[in-house]
Order: sequence, then structure tokens, then C-alpha cells
Amino acid sequence: MTTVGILGGGQLARMLALSGAPLGVRFLVMDTSAEACAAQFAPMVVGDYRDEAMLAEFASRIDVATFDFENVPAESARWLSARVPVFPSPRALATAQDRLAEKTLFRELGIPVPDFAPVATRGELDAAVARIGTPCILKTRRLGYDGKGQFRLRAAADVAPAWEALGAQAGKVGLILEAFVPFERELSVVAVRGRDGDFRTWPLTENWHVDGVLSASLAPAAVDAALEATAVAHARALAEALGYVGVFALELFCRDGVLLANELAPRVHNSGHWTIEGSETSQFQNHLRAVLGLPLGDTRLVGRACMLNWIGEMPDPAPVLREAGGHWHDYGKSPRAGRKVGHATLRADAAVELADALRRVGEGLGRQAQVAPVVARLSA
Ligand code: AMP
Repeated sequence: MTTVGILGGGQLARMLALSGAPLGVRFLVMDTSAEACAAQFAPMVVGDYRDEAMLAEFASRIDVATFDFENVPAESARWLSARVPVFPSPRALATAQDRLAEKTLFRELGIPVPDFAPVATRGELDAAVARIGTPCILKTRRLGYDGKGQFRLRAAADVAPAWEALGAQAGKVGLILEAFVPFERELSVVAVRGRDGDFRTWPLTENWHVDGVLSASLAPAAVDAALEATAVAHARALAEALGYVGVFALELFCRDGVLLANELAPRVHNSGHWTIEGSETSQFQNHLRAVLGLPLGDTRLVGRACMLNWIGEMPDPAPVLREAGGHWHDYGKSPRAGRKVGHATLRADAAVELADALRRVGEGLGRQAQVAPVVARLSA
């Protein structure tokens, strides 16, 4: 019996455990909280990721380790990798944890990125804003997610409040200033690479964010074959450069038909949740196949799918469950403002059917605004 160790016990670990059950895999999850929602499906080791005694116990009980959370200290991943195989590798994790290292790698690989500059001091921020111009975004290099650790500068006068908000982080996690991209669309490519180098991608997904947090995803994104091929080539270049094993997502902005890379998420990704019902093989199952050295599954679509995120609290499931292609995912978390507590996926064979289902669900839940951009795209 093979045991997969997962660092981080959130909804991603929970969905990995659920998708691994048919493979006969066991799991052991490490998290700082015994309340982590994966604990409902897998035994836990509870403790600090830097605690070597805890890591040693974890390592002694697993055959291979992976992550549900990219902010696990890179040193802990390296420490573990001296004892058990760790996928993705600590090197890939370290690159993806640092927005500066990540963007530098994108550039080296010829993947276009928004203009950026590292910022360590107030003087460097002034110089970076003068060079890049406004609007722009100041971000922490590390530990930011879902729009946290970010400050948007509309004009040069915003430099002082931006430094006020994030300057204290400059010495701790570092800062990066990025040009603001007035994108037409946000897209992501979710990809998987096996231990043998086999590489696959799911069809491109279009994503909508509210306050920096993913609100809805639609697959397949309506893009032409050339754009899709470019996104896949970027993902493949990254996977090969990093010797990546497992699933990752490359988040992209599309502007005037050009793709600019925003970030690499070194794990299964929220914009790939639709693959559970909308693809022959889900991102969770393929991540496990990759880290276990099993053949990867087919990533083809089954119809079309839209995922809606539930943030803060779970809505009434009935309007989704009434739909022929309605699927419900409650992560078993207690409600809290801004927290991802669940999602729904609606699946249909045709765009018009999916748009109709989304309209009904939007009305049934009083969430017309959440479904509106997706319905508009499906109806275009
Ligand atoms: P991130 O944490 O970098 O993925 O940012 C969260 C969200 O903020 C993105 O999905 C975008 O909607 C927005 N965002 C981040 N960086 C930029 C940028 N350089 N230009 C425009 N929007 C951005």
C-alpha cells in the first residue's frame, strides 16, 4: 500500500485524497491545524513545517511527498527530499514561491511578462514607478496569494501610501513592482508532467476574479488555436526547465491577442477544479499519477464546464443540485469572510445549455452578478 504525504491540509489536499481513493492510495496530511479540512478524509500530522521531529515522523510514514500549499518553507521541502521523493522538486517550489525568481525565469524562457522591477527601499520604489509608469502594482515577492500582499498605484501620488502599506515587508519577503496590465481576459493553462517526462495540458480556461480572488472559470476558453498553442508551449518550456513533476497552473493575461505570464502555481489549481467532472481525468487524479510514476490520464474535455467559487459561506445547494449537469463541492470548512469554502461545477454538452443552467443557478441563488460575465462569454 502506497502512502502519499501532503504538506498542507486544505481543500486541495482534500480533493487529492478523494481522487486518490480509487487508486488504492493512502494519504498522510501535515498541517499546522488539526481542523484542516483534509483531516476529514486523511490521517494527520499536526505541527510546524519547520519542526524536524514532526517532519521526521511524517517522512517515516510516507512513500512520496507533495504539496497542497506552495508556501511550505523551501528548506522543509529540501530536508524532506533527502529522505523521501518530493514532487514537485524543492527547486521548482522555491522558484514559484518568489515572484521575482518566477518572472526572471519566464523572461529567460522567452515567455512575455508585464514589465517588473525588484524593490527593496523607498528610493527603489520611486525609481521603479518612474520607469514603469502608472498604473502599476506593488506586490510582496513571497507569501502573497489571492490578491493579498498587493497595492495598486493609480498615480505617482500613490507611492507614499503603497510604501506605507507594504514597505515593512521589503526587508522580510521582498517586493516587486509590476506594470498593471489592462487585460481583456485572464486565462490559465493547467498542465501535468509525469516522472517519465510525459507532458499534457487541459484545454485553456478563462477566469474571472473579484477582489483578487477567483470567482468563476469557464472551460474551454474561447481562444483560437494559435493562442492555445502559445500557452501550451509556455507551459511546456517551464515544465522542462524546472524538471517539473505533477500538476501546475500558469496564469496568463491576454491583451491585444498577446499572452503575458502572471504567475506559476506549483500545485493543483482552483482554475482546474472543473476537471473533476469536465474532463476525462481530473487534475487531482493526474497529479497523483504523476507523483506516483503511473501513466497519465487523458485530459480531454467532456462537454463544457463552468466552476463557480463559494467564498465566505456556502449557498443553498438546491439550485445547483437540480441541474442535470450540476455538481456540488462543500469543503467542510467553517464560514469566514474571504475564505474559499466550496465550489460548484455546471457541465453541459453545448454552450447554450450551459448558459441557461448558469442563468437559472444565478437567479436561484441571487448571484446573477457572479454568473453574468460567463453567460455573456457563452452567448457571444
Ligand atoms: P496574483 O496574486 O498575482 O495572481 O493576482 C491576483 C489578481 O490580481 C490577478 O488574477 C489579476 O486579476 C490581478 N492582477 C495581478 N497582477 C496584475 C497586473 N500586473 N495587471 C493587472 N491585474 C493584475
